[in-house]
Amino acid sequence: MAQQELDGRPSHAGRTVLVTGAGRGIGAAIARGFARRGARVAVIDLDGAAAAATAAAIGEAGGTAAHAAADVADHPTLAPVLDRLAAELGRPFDALVNNAGISPKHEGRAHRVWEMAPDEWRQVVDVNLTGCFNTVRLLVPAMRERGSGAIVNMASIAGRVYSPIVGVHYAATKAAIIGMTRHLAGELGPDGITVNAIAPGRIDTPMIRTVGAAMNEETVAQTPLGRLGTPEEVADLALFFTSPEARFITGQTCDVAGGWCMT
Ligand code: NAP
Repeated sequence: MAQQELDGRPSHAGRTVLVTGAGRGIGAAIARGFARRGARVAVIDLDGAAAAATAAAIGEAGGTAAHAAADVADHPTLAPVLDRLAAELGRPFDALVNNAGISPKHEGRAHRVWEMAPDEWRQVVDVNLTGCFNTVRLLVPAMRERGSGAIVNMASIAGRVYSPIVGVHYAATKAAIIGMTRHLAGELGPDGITVNAIAPGRIDTPMIRTVGAAMNEETVAQTPLGRLGTPEEVADLALFFTSPEARFITGQTCDVAGGWCMT
């Protein structure tokens, strides 16, 4: 893509990046953002057609992307997919964005703990938390060998403060992501790998449309900047955290929330 499109923002030219859950929403915006800044992007999503659509849009805009259907929660099937994508892009991954996440709703609201089936608890832990462990475990050896890498994990404001919109599984996994980010930053820092997290507030994606409009309007009313966020505004922070400009930043969680629930 044309260099003038970069608007002076960090370049990722020549790097390879894996973005999980990149078939739509925030993940798709992150994948497009990396491609615009010159990275070769691997797009994975549970929904293979959605992953293919994101990769096709990147290709049509002049970028480079490989794609696959993959379940981040399933370590045995994930491993060969990630190997194939890195080979297709010509280089082990320089950066990883753990974006895939789920927040189950039932008729527009999350189940309370007494209503929640143990299987639903397990599914959310498997995707939101174990999924992150799986990709990190699989990609870190090559990063360590090279002595550099950047990892971004998607937390949530709901991992910092009580949110009546989400279930206990979601809140617990997003809080765990913040702890996991700090721990990994400590473990991997000596290998030149940074690990940071983003805690989005209410971002306008298919995920938040599963709750009623009134709930989102209420959040907007409590947000100093007076609106929902866009996926691109979350993507901008992921691009920064993985850029050379952020090389001395690790173990941090930064809100992208328009001032909603300042912690
Ligand atoms: P979204 O619109 O629901 O997109 C999430 C994507 O992840 C979907 O394409 C989904 O695929 C995919 N996915 C789900 N399970 C997966 C799995 N096991 N393996 C691979 N891909 C999987 O969500 P979003 O709003 O963009 O959210 C992205 C991330 O930001 C999540 O971690 C979310 O918790 C976090 N977040 C979002 C908000 C917000 O307001 N939107 C706020 C705070 C945090 P399918 O369509 O096939 O399920």
